[in-house]
Amino acid sequence: MPRFSGKTVIITGSSNGIGRSAALLFAQDGANVTITGRNADRLEETRQLLLKSGVSEKNINSVVADLTTSNGQDQLVNTTVNKYGKIDILVNNAGAAIPDSQGATGTDQGIDTYQKTLKINLQSVIEMTQKVKPHLLATKGEIVNVSSIVAGPQAQPEFMYYAISKAALDQYTRSCAIDLIQFGVRVNSVSPGVVATGFNNAMGMPDEATQKFYDFMASRKECIPALVAGKPEDIANVILFLADRKLSSFIIGQSIVVDGGTTLVMGAQAHNLNVLLGL
Ligand code: NDP
Repeated sequence: MPRFSGKTVIITGSSNGIGRSAALLFAQDGANVTITGRNADRLEETRQLLLKSGVSEKNINSVVADLTTSNGQDQLVNTTVNKYGKIDILVNNAGAAIPDSQGATGTDQGIDTYQKTLKINLQSVIEMTQKVKPHLLATKGEIVNVSSIVAGPQAQPEFMYYAISKAALDQYTRSCAIDLIQFGVRVNSVSPGVVATGFNNAMGMPDEATQKFYDFMASRKECIPALVAGKPEDIANVILFLADRKLSSFIIGQSIVVDGGTTLVMGAQAHNLNVLLGL
């Protein structure tokens, strides 16, 4: 029997990238999936991808919604419960790095940019967790959040609000995990490094520049020691692992880093001392 057979999963941000890949893997592994995003065309692409892979129409609940609105969040929860009667797994994946509306950088970035960034990357996760909580208590379910390695100790001056939102999300994951495990609900997260998705496009970066960015990162061992940018399924597979109680039941409140080694290197260490000193 497929491992998520009979389970119902909400995957936010599944109209693109990592969320789309996770939706496909969950559905192929037997789950009912609620897929969602604001962009109706891209969401339909996800739906078609699932259908083409052999997933039945009845196992897909497709909802166009803005996750930063209370109404959008309610639609996700209500349509899922109306269609499938329960929720077993919540994947809080939607997120974005939002460029400053005035083009400001560093400490000059406006408070509106801060608020918009925190609203999607942190507040919507808190609100969705609160709204889905009663359903997860009933099923003894799982939450998997999608964070980022930018939450770590390195400075991120150009995307400081994005990094702040993910650092706060990591603390929320830990606190939430301890609060909810008493009811049998597990909470964990994944921290991706550089992954080729629609993320850079969503920041307004054209395709050509995006490709240049991935190629640069993948060609330098001080950026990605594995010398390859991640694929959405590299992250999606870990999301499924953390959502699978049979495989990961003793992991509580952790974030698994999936980054091709990026967080293990600092620029200085990447250079060969022997070459440098001509030895
Ligand atoms: P994509 O841009 O490909 O996907 C982001 C998804 O989030 C889209 O489906 C988008 O849908 C959705 N989304 C964004 N804002 C909203 C909103 N207000 N309401 C509803 N949905 C929204 O990026 P990724 O797949 O890369 O991003 C997924 C997660 O991974 C994010 O949390 C991101 O921070 C994290 N991450 C990504 C990394 C990377 O290198 N790609 C690295 C580290 C972390 P739509 O546009 O249709 O609204």
